[in-house]
Amino acid sequence: MSETANPFESLQSQIDEAAGYLDVEADVIERLKHPERVLETNLTVELDDGSLERFKAFRSQFNGDRGPYKGGIRYHPQVSRDEVKALSGWMTYKTAIVDIPLGGGKGGIVVDPDEYSTGELERLTRSFAKELRPMIGEDRDIPAPDVNTGQREMNWIKDTYETLENTTEPGVITGKHLASGGSEGRVEATGRSTVLAAREAFEYLGKDLEGATVAVQGYGNAGWIAAKLIDEMGATVVAASDSSGGIYNPDGFDPVAAKQYKNETGSIVGYEESEDELTNDEVLTLDVDLLIPAALENAVDGDLATDINADVISEAANGPLTPDADRILENEDVFVIPDILANAGGVTVSYFEWVQNRQRFYWSEQKVNEELEGIIVDAFDALVGTIEEHDLDNPRTAAYVVAIQRVADAFDEAGTFP
Ligand code: GLU
Repeated sequence: MSETANPFESLQSQIDEAAGYLDVEADVIERLKHPERVLETNLTVELDDGSLERFKAFRSQFNGDRGPYKGGIRYHPQVSRDEVKALSGWMTYKTAIVDIPLGGGKGGIVVDPDEYSTGELERLTRSFAKELRPMIGEDRDIPAPDVNTGQREMNWIKDTYETLENTTEPGVITGKHLASGGSEGRVEATGRSTVLAAREAFEYLGKDLEGATVAVQGYGNAGWIAAKLIDEMGATVVAASDSSGGIYNPDGFDPVAAKQYKNETGSIVGYEESEDELTNDEVLTLDVDLLIPAALENAVDGDLATDINADVISEAANGPLTPDADRILENEDVFVIPDILANAGGVTVSYFEWVQNRQRFYWSEQKVNEELEGIIVDAFDALVGTIEEHDLDNPRTAAYVVAIQRVADAFDEAGTFP
């Protein structure tokens, strides 16, 4: 993994790349390259042994022109101010490309959750929720899960917020447990959009998904669900990796059994259907029809990009390709479905969750999945329309052209205050 690319600079260079094709003034583009505000806070948490520990945490509200800020909260030692700013910008353009009425935000705590007890993590999460309280709300800013957070953390945040506000407001946060106002289909949504977008790309390129080979880097919530769903669509998952290493079987393996193995042992490495162990980089550079990077930013840098052999990449992670990698792959004719479209299923079903919370009326899983499919197919069509209109080689640039224009139009119509 490259440590060199600063994700916030990557975001800005992606915006610059698209700016040349847009009918948007330079001063508005400048506005759209920076967050509106960033909270930086130090949380003091009592550990189980009675001592206190300080944790740094951030929330970036990038843009609210199209609706309340929206985006997850991640727990990771690598969280930084610039990473959170970049991720909040990606959320802004993600909600715009799928055209849901939300803005973009992101939060994070610098912490390795594996090193703390459940009680310590609960106190840490509730402490962050207390800090966030003045800036969140169902019409203001709506957090959600991200790397190393899930239903448990969302429920703690909801409970803290509702207790302090003395109200019930489930729409203040999404990705909740079903019993606490969560939505059917939310857990699977990121992996689902990643494979729906891949299916659309294969159709556009005239490639057959049936029997296509697939490698998945990262076997967390997004990666393993994508593996399971692409297998159900008839493709063959031949390789996967997690933070401990990778597995490979040229004839394919059962992605669900591999996940069960990981649940039992902590890693997919050692899974019995694997014929060979691979490094993370070997999984990324395998000669496959479809590569799904589903871990963190900067998985593929310029050096590794020259070794990529996949025909299509569907980005389940946020920011897995550096701008250098992007330029190399665009010349090598690799069709990259950008993160802001490929993984937008997560925030799209978060939007459905928020709608259901506000109406206090809940949908079936079938309705959620049908609505999600319609949104991803429409976004992919908008992407292809822009690729063809401007004769673009890089689908990411096309995605930003569509998304930035939508945010800029909302800004233009509303103007600024004062
Ligand atoms: N963390 C997810 C993302 O990066 C989901 C955000 C949300 O549901 O608001 O898109």
